[in-house]
Amino acid sequence: MDTTAPRNTMPCPHCRSRMRTITSRQLSTLVREIYFDCMNVDCGHRCVAQLGIVRTLVPSLIPNAQVSLPIVERRPNDILVPAATHKATGENPALPPTGSAGSSYAPMVLN
Ligand SMILES: [Zn+2]
Repeated sequence: MDTTAPRNTMPCPHCRSRMRTITSRQLSTLVREIYFDCMNVDCGHRCVAQLGIVRTLVPSLIPNAQVSLPIVERRPNDILVPAATHKATGENPALPPTGSAGSSYAPMVLN
């Protein structure tokens, strides 16, 4: 994987060149609209994309009652990302401690 590629962008759908973000705005709690500009001067394409939060992998410890997202089991084609760790203890507060007797993390499956 190219680790030098900028994050939160996508290639131009016409010429596949890099696009830069011109601006963005929050449309709702779960959706952000992003304005892109193709970096290829021979193309000049400008477009609008939407970034939306679609499902929960690990539930929030401080859930917003206004937010309703399905909690789905990890899918085979999901990208595997390391769990966030709590800075003070190195533990992930969203997950039960590993090795604790009688407990296992089992998300509710809605799909
Ligand atoms: Zn382009």
